[in-house]
Amino acid sequence: MRVLGIEGTAWCASAALYDAETDSVLIESNPYEPDSGGIHPREAAEHMSEAIPEVVDAVLTAAEEDHGPDAIDAVAFSRGPGLGPCLRTVATAARSLAGALDVPLVGVNHMVAHLEIGRHRSGFENPVCLNASGANAHLLGYHDGRYRVLGETMDAGVGNAIDKFTRHVGWDHPGGPKVEAAARRYAAGSDGPGDLLDLPYVVKGMDFSFSGISSAANDASDDGVPVEEICFSLQEHVFAMLTEVSERALSLTGADELVLGGGVAQNDRLREMLASMCAARGAEFHAPEPRFLRDNAGMIAVLGAKMTAAGDTLSIPESAIDPNFRPDQVPVTWRSDGSV
Ligand code: ATP
Repeated sequence: MRVLGIEGTAWCASAALYDAETDSVLIESNPYEPDSGGIHPREAAEHMSEAIPEVVDAVLTAAEEDHGPDAIDAVAFSRGPGLGPCLRTVATAARSLAGALDVPLVGVNHMVAHLEIGRHRSGFENPVCLNASGANAHLLGYHDGRYRVLGETMDAGVGNAIDKFTRHVGWDHPGGPKVEAAARRYAAGSDGPGDLLDLPYVVKGMDFSFSGISSAANDASDDGVPVEEICFSLQEHVFAMLTEVSERALSLTGADELVLGGGVAQNDRLREMLASMCAARGAEFHAPEPRFLRDNAGMIAVLGAKMTAAGDTLSIPESAIDPNFRPDQVPVTWRSDGSV
């Protein structure tokens, strides 16, 4: 089976071809890069309407060159969560393409796709998943036909919390990679790493909060603390919170596998902290390669193939987008025996 996936929940217009027989994934992406500030919803939607046809065309052309006119068996698209105007563009493209090719249409939950690509690439059967992305941060675990939200941010997504600080100090979007580089310079420098700055560390059971730490980091910058020192302490605090709740989720569920998803998962320090926590408790850890961590259509196509095989497809009237689509709203049809 070959599935064409389309992703465009916020900043990345992306299309992909997943060939289930060879387990190969071709991804074409065109990111929106704001001139200044963060992601502007209207500009992001304009970007989607220009870039989605281009990336879909590139993937479709490649698929038809290799496999002929019947190359595509289904079209999968990200239904949410995300920015409404962006999701509408993606859904319209997917509906038209599925109709033109006369193949099934599959609506994929973007956050479940972040989890499933980690499960697919690792071969883990029943992992806990930490989704550390721009607009979200949560832990998912499978129970009784659904991915349950075991813990989540009470306010900002983890990437957005970091980007809020980088906007304050005048850095371009996205801020996460710049914070990582600055923290690494500080740790390698002659002055660091010294004591951590005293920033808010807020974990309440399985949930956590980032809004206070963004504001405290901004205040530290206004007080003249060197930016590299703030970046180092910001990362250590935020990633320690995520590591603590991940360990608690493993302990609560009895799982011995952890997968990581989302754009912030590209951060080496986060991966290092999670890997060392897992090693200490005898659990296995997997983070997919970066092209499957940031927003990408590859993960949509891979889960789309599993859903198509399970008969989990949509008619046009059922295919409305959902900007607030939660992972626990999705019946997990493709894990028929509860573990596959
Ligand atoms: P979601 O999946 O919730 O819709 P999103 O659309 O914002 O998230 P992602 O690609 O998952 O997109 O994540 C983007 C975020 O990842 C941005 O906030 C960016 O700053 C952050 N990020 C990217 N690389 C790194 C890094 N190396 N370290 C920390 N954060 C990073």
